[in-house]
Amino acid sequence: MNSTETTDVKLAEPHLEQVLASAGIGVEYTRAERNTLYYRDEEGTEIPVLDLVGGFGSLILGHNHPDLVAHAKDLLDAGTPIHAQFSPHPHANRAALELNRIVHRETGTEEPYFAVFANSGAEAVEAALKHAEFDRGLRLAELRDELAAHRVAARAAVAAGENVAASAYAAAGVAPEAGFEGLIEAVERENARRLARSPLFLAPEGAFHGKLVGSVQLTHNEAFRLPFGSLAAQARFVPVDQPGVLGKIVREEGAVVLDVVTRDGEVGVVERPFPLFCAFLIEPIQGEGGIRVISEAFAQEVRTLCREIACPVVVDEIQSGMGRSGAFLASSLIGLRGDYYTLAKSLGGGIAKTSVTLIREGCYRQDFELVHSSTFAKDGFSSQIALRTLQLLEADDGRAYRTAREVGGKLLTMLEEVRSDFPDVIKDVRGKGLMLGVEFHDQVRAASPDLRAVAESGFLGYVIAGHLLNAHRIRVFPTGSSVNTLRIEPSIHLSDEEIEQLRTALRAVGSLLRDQDVQRLVGAG
Ligand code: PMP
Repeated sequence: MNSTETTDVKLAEPHLEQVLASAGIGVEYTRAERNTLYYRDEEGTEIPVLDLVGGFGSLILGHNHPDLVAHAKDLLDAGTPIHAQFSPHPHANRAALELNRIVHRETGTEEPYFAVFANSGAEAVEAALKHAEFDRGLRLAELRDELAAHRVAARAAVAAGENVAASAYAAAGVAPEAGFEGLIEAVERENARRLARSPLFLAPEGAFHGKLVGSVQLTHNEAFRLPFGSLAAQARFVPVDQPGVLGKIVREEGAVVLDVVTRDGEVGVVERPFPLFCAFLIEPIQGEGGIRVISEAFAQEVRTLCREIACPVVVDEIQSGMGRSGAFLASSLIGLRGDYYTLAKSLGGGIAKTSVTLIREGCYRQDFELVHSSTFAKDGFSSQIALRTLQLLEADDGRAYRTAREVGGKLLTMLEEVRSDFPDVIKDVRGKGLMLGVEFHDQVRAASPDLRAVAESGFLGYVIAGHLLNAHRIRVFPTGSSVNTLRIEPSIHLSDEEIEQLRTALRAVGSLLRDQDVQRLVGAG
């Protein structure tokens, strides 16, 4: 192995490549534009593939958008400083201002959001988690000081002859014989124990927020999450659209401390809430969980409860944001307001790698900037590409959002038509704008033993994807955690012909599954 030219030796995650190849989707692409990826066949002929994966949602403007490519070239030709850390960063600042202008317009708020830039989606989520914990730590410190001040005041009151209520001893879990100092000691011990609990995060079932150490604990899929559970704070996952359950889960955690208070001429002990819940993370349209749009009612329940327990709401728009839903923020369509927003994927225009965490001024702790950083965050190149991407989305009074709605509407109508012709094969079609999902029946009770075997292995979605690629030159993948749901996330440039190409292909898959024709499904025919 002495030449980097050697292509038959594979060391960059070769196992994954093999798994994908076994489903017939291990194709190497050599060129990309708009919604098309090209590969070369054995004769060297360039073969176009309709790409509906769209960089897992990173390509709202398509592959290699000409304006962005030209801008990137200009930036490089002009010798733009890309890495000038610890100096003013006007381009990141302009991107932050533009993000604020758009968020304000869509959410109707005027409160500024400070921007912490990062490099990937999971990193933006981790910045949100860290900031929320930083804030929680400061709020806990204020609470500790307040509790201590109350104890001092109570001690002075008792010294001045004030009575200690009998109920106070019961609340502190000590007998009256322990005396007031015994009560105080018990309260301090109990509070220290309760306040030392690890923070808890909340997220809906089906959530996906990334695969780094912290964010993976907020990703519901157990295969991704459980092996790493010992590394970070945990989340409680709440069922979606079950009114009241969220409140019950929160109450179950019993996040209260004991406060020694002087009231009505008596010293007593009362329970008061403390910020155990660090943040509630929510995707307005769950992506990897199977393209599920969160209902307005659930969004409202989350907002109301989080306000009650002073828990910030982090709206993760990494996949749904940047216009894909037909609005810049999918959350704005369901009236869900975030204390934080995370954006990534299409923010880099399909060219740069960048992400951002937006934090509402009222929650923002400026000292966070002194303890959190990343070498590549806010770099001159990515920031300018992000800014140009935002400008392209906003151009012509938001034509891109209108296009996402219109093209997405046509696509959804077509998918619903196919589903109504193949209801025995396609279980559901759902989503918003250009973030759509097609869920297949799982086939575990199929007549064909071969098909049952495919279904039981959890690979049905990948086998369908392999067929669509090899027989119809269409690239789709299942979502990460809902393996029978194909995600359809093209750019706004999707044409009517491309929609028809997908219709033909899905109808063919529908017929093969209806006929239980596994041989043709796994082959190219
Ligand atoms: N949050 C959401 C909603 C996502 O869809 C994803 C990626 N699919 C992430 C976070 C993680 O982003 P990345 O892969 O860039 O780390």
